[in-house]
Amino acid sequence: MATNDNQIAGYYQKLLKRNAGEPEFHQAVAEVLDSLQIVLQKDPHYNDYGLIERLCEPERQIIFRVPWVADNGDVRVNRGFRVQFNSALGPYKGGLRFHPSVNLGIIKFLGFEQIFKNSLTGLPIGGGKGGSDFDPKGKSDAEIMRFCQSFMTELHRHIGEYRDVPAGDIGVGGREIGYLFGQYRRLTNEHESGVLTGKGLTWGGSLVRTEATGYGCVYITNKMMVANGDSLEGAKVIVSGSGNVAIYAIEKAQELGATVVGFSDSSGWVETPNGVDVELLKEIKEVRRGRVNEYVEEATGAIFHEDGSIWDLKADVALPCATQNEIDGEHAQKLVENGVKYVAEGANMPSTAEAIEVYRKNHIHFLPGKAANAGGVATSALEMQQNASRDSWSFEYTDDRLKRIMENIFRHTSATAAEYDHEGDYVIGANIAGFKKVADAMLAQGVI
Ligand code: NDP
Repeated sequence: MATNDNQIAGYYQKLLKRNAGEPEFHQAVAEVLDSLQIVLQKDPHYNDYGLIERLCEPERQIIFRVPWVADNGDVRVNRGFRVQFNSALGPYKGGLRFHPSVNLGIIKFLGFEQIFKNSLTGLPIGGGKGGSDFDPKGKSDAEIMRFCQSFMTELHRHIGEYRDVPAGDIGVGGREIGYLFGQYRRLTNEHESGVLTGKGLTWGGSLVRTEATGYGCVYITNKMMVANGDSLEGAKVIVSGSGNVAIYAIEKAQELGATVVGFSDSSGWVETPNGVDVELLKEIKEVRRGRVNEYVEEATGAIFHEDGSIWDLKADVALPCATQNEIDGEHAQKLVENGVKYVAEGANMPSTAEAIEVYRKNHIHFLPGKAANAGGVATSALEMQQNASRDSWSFEYTDDRLKRIMENIFRHTSATAAEYDHEGDYVIGANIAGFKKVADAMLAQGVI
């Protein structure tokens, strides 16, 4: 035990030095390494052949210039990233994020998480992530198109159906995937559907992909609640964010009988004691690309807040679906005081390490993002299957596959936690279950 603890601490110190100034990456690695100490006690062979060090080092990191011309003729320069983290289980797979906060450390944290998440889906996909510090907010359609074309002009040489298959994330939805795919097709002179997921339905996209992350998060939340003697029926739920993941989490939670009591964006949050009018929210966010305060002007009984925090609301369930580190220790304490018993992460790493500690101490049932939001990438892998077989499946069939995948993730996570004597600790369960499959593949494939 002591040897493993020391070795893991040694790896981590080295990682901090070699990856200075990347706090989000450190945070994601620390959480996983913490769980791996338990595995190494029981299965010390996972420490052989430099496995842990190799796992924490991306196979490839690509950084590139993205120049584009604004509508007023100004030349703008952004930075593009693709981190191809681990391809032991399949082609690199993970989204592209366009947001001004994007830097290498953020893409590495997301790529690292993606390895274990993709492994948990049970599908043959490796882990990667990419993006740019480009801010789509306030840009015209033509500017978005020129940016996407410039981004893909470099990215196209690094991706492919069997190599690396990007998708959307914050700031990258159907519109951006369309422009990216168009430029890929033009540059390669091939209609290679399998190179990107989240495509439009008439040119290789899959039904349910748009809904998948939010729906999947709700399916697995309900499964966790049922396993602990509750259900979403009649529950009060807070959903942060109002983007792709949040909207479809709200829709499915309400379909299952819950009342969603609040949602947000970066301008503030909206209290909705009587539930959310999902069609109105879609119209504001997906069609008009507006802000959440527009919702209260058109819906009855909703209140917009610029100050305070959405985590001050009373509820049974919290689904953070916006961005990393949006729940800190104090917010988590508020959740406890306000009666929240379940937290499931629609976003990637929305809870800080301190918040997770508060959940543990207060016996909040907590599903980390790599399990709770895996429905998006799982359905992307189903899109790849449909592309490979030149087929397209019905909504019902695809949704049923998604549901079964999420239920399997819960069963596997829960059983692994119990196997390692941490019953009910879904962080440990998800980390270990995700790790073992990748680790076995890496050991089988030799030191590469
Ligand atoms: P969207 O861009 O569609 O929506 C993001 C939402 O979060 C918006 O409401 C946005 O508000 C809010 N938000 C983003 N950054 C911040 C911030 N710094 N502070 C406050 N609010 C913020 O993205 P998605 O819904 O696709 O992604 C949300 C989360 O889910 C991310 O963590 C992503 O990595 C994760 N995820 C997404 C998947 C997918 O399939 N899309 C799959 C798995 C995980 P505003 O518009 O004001 O910026």
